[in-house]
Amino acid sequence: MDLFEYQARDVFEKHDVPVLAGIVATTGDEAYAAAEKLIADGSKVVVVKAQVKTGGRGKAGGVKLARSADEAREHANTILGMDIKGHTVHRVMIAAGADIAQEFYFSVLLDRANRSYLAMASVEGGMEIEQLAVERPEALAKVEVDPRVGIDEAKAAEIVTAAGFDGAIKGQVAEVLQKLWRVYDAEDATLVEVNPLVLTGGGDIVALDGKVSIDENASFRHPDHEALEDKDAADPLEAKAKENDLNYVKLDGEVGVIGNGAGLVMSTLDVVAYAGENHGGVKPANFLDIGGGASAAVMAAGLDVILGDPQVRSVFVNVFGGITACDEVANGIVSALEILGDQATKPLVVRLDGNNVAEGRRILEAAGHPLVTLSETMDGGADKAAELAAQA
Ligand code: GDP
Ligand code: MN
Repeated sequence: MDLFEYQARDVFEKHDVPVLAGIVATTGDEAYAAAEKLIADGSKVVVVKAQVKTGGRGKAGGVKLARSADEAREHANTILGMDIKGHTVHRVMIAAGADIAQEFYFSVLLDRANRSYLAMASVEGGMEIEQLAVERPEALAKVEVDPRVGIDEAKAAEIVTAAGFDGAIKGQVAEVLQKLWRVYDAEDATLVEVNPLVLTGGGDIVALDGKVSIDENASFRHPDHEALEDKDAADPLEAKAKENDLNYVKLDGEVGVIGNGAGLVMSTLDVVAYAGENHGGVKPANFLDIGGGASAAVMAAGLDVILGDPQVRSVFVNVFGGITACDEVANGIVSALEILGDQATKPLVVRLDGNNVAEGRRILEAAGHPLVTLSETMDGGADKAAELAAQA
């Protein structure tokens, strides 16, 4: 989960990373009031910043300085509703303006390829770090961070030296890097990026723009992270699946897919996409793994989510019975269809194999639901489901 800049700012503040005051506004009038407050508190300049989960806001006109509350309102009115790389701006942050002497770059992230953490720092921060990395890679220091140690005093010193920070501010920057590490570690982040980290005219080091990505796999130990979710932006089907603890990802095809086990579901997506080529190019509509204990309730919840997708025209249920035997799955499908009643309107192709398959098939045949077609094989089932989707 990526955080908005204002949320990253709050998280930074919680871990004592130096930040400037910021107030979120959703209208020009709120921006005016926020700017008035910051100016009354001593800011000579305020910054109106678009809150969108994408970079390059500055270049796109989403970051503007204002010298009065009136000017802040004007900028907010321009920026609110703006489209930045496909993201509509619904909120701005009115931030206390910094007197910038120098702009730096710092990030720490999960380096999957090297199974480690990586810190990057540069004394040439600002807007285009990707460009810097390509054109002058020597200006961007990369330092591996041992996950068991993190960025302690010694590691922070190594990073600021590698990046070539001026001796006079090295110690100060190193201290901030250790605090940013605490953000990364304590919040279970996969990315903490500050661009720019600035040296102010007054000699302070301040994180002026923050980007934080949080590892949702660790959400069980962060009940407070739920409040950071952007509920407005969530896909309604994905939100419903999440409520039911289903592993669901919406895709944009026509064949709904349900399976047990992530590997089986992924190969089912491939097989459906391949079969779809013979049926007008229909594609899988989703990923849905109902996991090991596929009870009737879980099957019903899964079918409910998939049938609620208006793009879905047929559903392929592909289950390999293991710990959960095929007869249980078959009972699950039968009772799911009972629970859903009239809401189940799209054809279902079911392929069962593995533990207790004969009994599973017998149960489905005995139920004789008009929407259900049984298939012997995965390829055959995918083909049938694609055909039904193409006909619908
Ligand atoms: P981004 O373009 O999305 O990365 O947005 P940033 O928040 O990083 O802002 C882009 C640039 O605007 C920064 O690199 C600064 O040069 C400038 N900027 C942002 N905040 C301030 C501020 O408080 N004072 C001044 N003078 N410039 C700022
Ligand atoms: Mn930035």
